[in-house]
Amino acid sequence: MQIIEDSLDQLLKQVAIRTNAVANREEVEKSVRDIIANVVKDGDKAVKMYEKKFDNVDLNNLKVTEKEIDDAYAATDDKVINALKLAKENITSFHKMEVEDSFIDAKKKGVIRGEKIAPLAAVGLYVPGGTAAYPSSILMNVIPAKIAGVGRIVMCTPPQKDGLNQAVLAAAKIAGVDEIYMVGGAQAIASLAYGTETIPRVDKITGPGNVFVATAKKQVFGQVDIDMIAGPSEIGVIAGSQAVPSQVAADLLSQAEHDKLARPILVTDDRKLADAVSAEMDRQVALLPRKEIAQAAMDNEGFIAVVDDIDDAFRLMNAVAPEHLEVQLPDAIEYLNQIKNAGSVFLGFSASEPLGDYLAGPNHILPTGGTARFFSPLGVQDFVKRTQFVSYTREALKKEKDAITTLARVEGLEAHARAIESRFDA
Ligand code: NAD
Repeated sequence: MQIIEDSLDQLLKQVAIRTNAVANREEVEKSVRDIIANVVKDGDKAVKMYEKKFDNVDLNNLKVTEKEIDDAYAATDDKVINALKLAKENITSFHKMEVEDSFIDAKKKGVIRGEKIAPLAAVGLYVPGGTAAYPSSILMNVIPAKIAGVGRIVMCTPPQKDGLNQAVLAAAKIAGVDEIYMVGGAQAIASLAYGTETIPRVDKITGPGNVFVATAKKQVFGQVDIDMIAGPSEIGVIAGSQAVPSQVAADLLSQAEHDKLARPILVTDDRKLADAVSAEMDRQVALLPRKEIAQAAMDNEGFIAVVDDIDDAFRLMNAVAPEHLEVQLPDAIEYLNQIKNAGSVFLGFSASEPLGDYLAGPNHILPTGGTARFFSPLGVQDFVKRTQFVSYTREALKKEKDAITTLARVEGLEAHARAIESRFDA
């Protein structure tokens, strides 16, 4: 991978340019806009046409039957089932800690105020499946939705030539989702946002995907809610001289193999480590089944930056705002407060990123493309909404009447003031 050694100011400028390059892909924006318009116009017919075009599959039925799900579960290796069940246990125990309570406040005489938290009625979960199958993303999507109490969970995932991946269907059964549609990409997002003859319209769409999926989610926002922009994967590693080059390289490649647009980034204060990791990546990538994808990500999106000291490494990484951030330094937990922008953080030499992809319990659906500046990991909070309420007695309202009418008249809203005063008309 390219090694850049420069002042922090210059490195920060380079990071800004590289991040914008991913954010503004006009061709993708345009083709996604066309796909959404055609799905709105032609419904299932357009969906099937795009499935033929992009996934090379002729579909009669978009919906997966219960029998297909049960058969896939029965045919899946016990080892896979047990691993999925353990993952479910860890993801469930972690996400249960995210549950927020409604509150009610009656401290002031005659006044009741509160906030009620309630689940969304229907959500659409996107599970990627173009170049790899992601049973793990099913657990990460469905478990927080179930804990929140969502009424209807609709899942979309692209089909392979011979239907859906067996482990994907087994994970769907373990997670408890029973409404699955074989559709991927922007056509899936459009279907969930606007509805087709077969696929129901939902209130919110969550889940990761490639650049077409992420762009489509951005474009339908407002018609439905979305969780975040969870696009091509990223990994940032901050490492010093004590890090083991072969391990750093392996971790960088674990995300590079996701997508040609994935972004592996190492920031270090040690030039020798930079050279050793670069050499290790070249050696290891050649051994991977998905070497073409990983190599493209290394060549086009990845880089290694050499900075003066570790404090600068954190400054630079905060500007990158990576989806995943590994801190491969001794006493890594001491640096937690220096991390301002990252989707999920892996502290210490043993916390290799795939731990979070599959099993530790935190969510793996995470913001990308610099959006960790303001988005958070997917969680139970994404599947609820808040309703606030107040109740005042006449006496309590009397005490605050003058302040309300004063503010209403300052805004020139006479009817607001009179509505309050009408309670006290003789
Ligand atoms: P995917 O399901 O996201 O995308 C496949 C779909 O893309 C296809 O069904 C097709 O409809 C559409 N598509 C492909 N080429 C197209 C084209 N030229 N024009 C229009 N649409 C086209 O699966 P994938 O491609 O394997 O990508 C999975 C992505 O998910 C990767 O980028 C991976 O890094 C990412 N991911 C992100 C997170 C996260 O939390 N950010 C987690 C897991 C995976």
